[in-house]
Amino acid sequence: MTECIFCKIARGEMEANIVHRDEDVVAFHDINPQAPTHILVISRKHIPSISDCAPEDFAVIAKVLAVCAKIAERESIRESGYRLVLNTGVDAGQAVDHIHVHLLGGREMAWPPG
Ligand code: AMP
Ligand code: ZN
Repeated sequence: MTECIFCKIARGEMEANIVHRDEDVVAFHDINPQAPTHILVISRKHIPSISDCAPEDFAVIAKVLAVCAKIAERESIRESGYRLVLNTGVDAGQAVDHIHVHLLGGREMAWPPG
């Protein structure tokens, strides 16, 4: 668990462009942005994915989503719209096994996703 890069970012042991920090949630710019706004919003708690959430973890996930909405407002993409993505597991291409919501916006997006 100590090797988890997102835990390290949450603890301040690894550099990141942090845009939000509170007792449960941390948000920072994705290192490889796929849209004009691309921010990752994570729980401080190490939860590998949404599939691994215990019932009590969903309170933190609700806070993560609330932070997404707050940041979208601050990034001025509330009106234009944005996409929240939770890649989960191999088929979805999840690369970092610490739950994170991608907040993507600032351009039109295709559907269905690739
Ligand atoms: P996923 O495929 O959903 O697991 O997405 C992982 C995301 O984490 C990718 O978009 C990466 O660009 C991003 N990422 C990986 N390492 C870092 C890092 N050190 N700082 C910021 N974003 C990162
Ligand atoms: Zn972690």
